Amino acid sequence: MKQLIDRFERSIDYVRLSVTDRCDLRCVYCMPKGFKDFEEPEHWLSFAEIERVIAAFARLGTKRVRITGGEPLVRKDLPQLAARLAALPGIEDLSLSTNATRLAKHAVELHDAGIRRINVSLDSLQSARFKDITGGKLDKVLDGLMAAKTAGFAPIKINMVVMKDVNVDEVETMVDFCIEHGFTLRFIETMPMGDTGRAATDRFVDLHTVKARLAQRFELLPGVMPGGGPARYVQVAGTDLRIGFITPLSQHFCETCNRVRLSVDGTLYMCLGQEHRFELRPLLRAGCTDAELDAAILHAIDLKPERHEFNEKPEQVLRFMSMTGG
Ligand code: SAM
Ligand code: SF4
Repeated sequence: MKQLIDRFERSIDYVRLSVTDRCDLRCVYCMPKGFKDFEEPEHWLSFAEIERVIAAFARLGTKRVRITGGEPLVRKDLPQLAARLAALPGIEDLSLSTNATRLAKHAVELHDAGIRRINVSLDSLQSARFKDITGGKLDKVLDGLMAAKTAGFAPIKINMVVMKDVNVDEVETMVDFCIEHGFTLRFIETMPMGDTGRAATDRFVDLHTVKARLAQRFELLPGVMPGGGPARYVQVAGTDLRIGFITPLSQHFCETCNRVRLSVDGTLYMCLGQEHRFELRPLLRAGCTDAELDAAILHAIDLKPERHEFNEKPEQVLRFMSMTGG
């Protein structure tokens, strides 16, 4: 069986696919208020081009794809793309990251298309605070989440970026909310991506302190979560709740990194925290063969750096998370 192995012996079997760099929210740590400098539509990979690249990854051993952005549901006809990707030979697991503002409308269609697992960003359960952080309406997100539950998505993971003096006081409330609804919860440390991410690191919270705080109220048992992502999990005793801690800064997990990111303009980003990249769009539009496409991906994998340098060089990454596909 074919496999993509990088220079550091890591098996790369997971693609995060950004279908747009646009978004209907402006989370403080991600995209600046009023930001409109988006990729030109003629540079967006078409559905056929995306399908071709993902088919190439599947030939090279990739089994898992996560659709992300920007906000993926602002890309028109996303369920159609999802259905095409889910049908590709070799793709066994298709998932979605979304802010859920448009999920109520699309949940059933997305589930029918073959998406089973979704991650939803939710940083606060207080409407005014949610608006301050994201510029959006909490009610819409909660409606989206409940529609996802009804549609049968499992697991549904809540992603909460924890920030000092912003929402760290809500971690226990979020635990209760996730126990009540059967969601999985993941806490995330702010990353210095773009000016917005760097500004948010002033609010940085080391998640080890959050875990210690939760341990005072809940009995936390060592836990695992299928999927092999970067989160380290615990289980809350007496409940089904698993809590993941994504700690890129306080405890990086680069030695087990298994992923690359494809941005909306067809650039493969080899690391969230580095500039190493390879542009596939020129090749695709020049009519490359499948063999040439596979060779280009193999070459790109060789460019993957050993680790990010968010701590050593926080000024390094100019692009916001939404531009790479977080
Ligand atoms: N719009 C979708 C969403 O919000 O889930 C998908 C894309 S979003 C860029 C993916 C994830 O990146 C979200 O969970 C968001 O909280 C996280 N994110 C964005 N900027 C970040 C930053 N500077 N530090 C840490 N996490 C960040
Ligand atoms: Fe949009 Fe997601 Fe970035 Fe928030 S984190 S601005 S929802 S892309």
